[in-house]
Amino acid sequence: MITITEQKPIEEITQSLGKAKKVYLVGCGTCATICYTGGKSEVLDMKEKLEAVGKKVTGWMVVPTACDELTKYALEEQAGEVKKADAILAMTCAFGVQTMAMFADKPVYPALNTLFVGKEEAPGQFIEVCMQCGNCILATTVGICPLVRCAKSLLNGPCGGSVEGKCEVSPDIPCAWQLIYDRLAALGKLDELEEIVPLRDWSTSREGGPRRITIG
Ligand code: SF4
Ligand code: SF4
Repeated sequence: MITITEQKPIEEITQSLGKAKKVYLVGCGTCATICYTGGKSEVLDMKEKLEAVGKKVTGWMVVPTACDELTKYALEEQAGEVKKADAILAMTCAFGVQTMAMFADKPVYPALNTLFVGKEEAPGQFIEVCMQCGNCILATTVGICPLVRCAKSLLNGPCGGSVEGKCEVSPDIPCAWQLIYDRLAALGKLDELEEIVPLRDWSTSREGGPRRITIG
């Protein structure tokens, strides 16, 4: 499972960079490389694009995992080239941007939009698999998450709108509840579908500021 990203339009990136004429580029060797948004070739492509609009790239690197605290040491190793830059352009997910913003003594701008946590279905095709709701119900849905895979996030599906196993919102999207039904049937557990799931407590989800946990 990886963090899925897409590249922002170059116009938005140059607008963010504003008066920063000299830029240091950082890519990520994990999720952004798998998404083709922040690996070596994308970083070199971005270098060309920035130079084409008059920016000077003082240097670049692709760190192993941008969100890892070791990125601090990677920045220190490249201190000479980083120091010459007015800003860092992060071709990483938002976690990488925030990690670098903790350690760098200059502005860090995102070159990517962070979309969701997902997996690669086929080369270059990514699908969301978890919205990190904080109260996982996969035990009752045979490992298929209806919160992200059902267009209505139904806890008691199906809605009755699916056609030939596809969701009513698009023939390209498998109906999550059809998938759950099929898997329950294959496992001989169809009777579990008769249990009504009560209203959900969403307080564990993304409301009321950043979530925190202390692992004891
Ligand atoms: S129920 Fe919540 S934690 Fe579990 S897979 Fe779905 S979104 Fe993720
Ligand atoms: S057709 Fe299936 S996936 Fe689509 S909204 Fe209805 S239950 Fe959810």
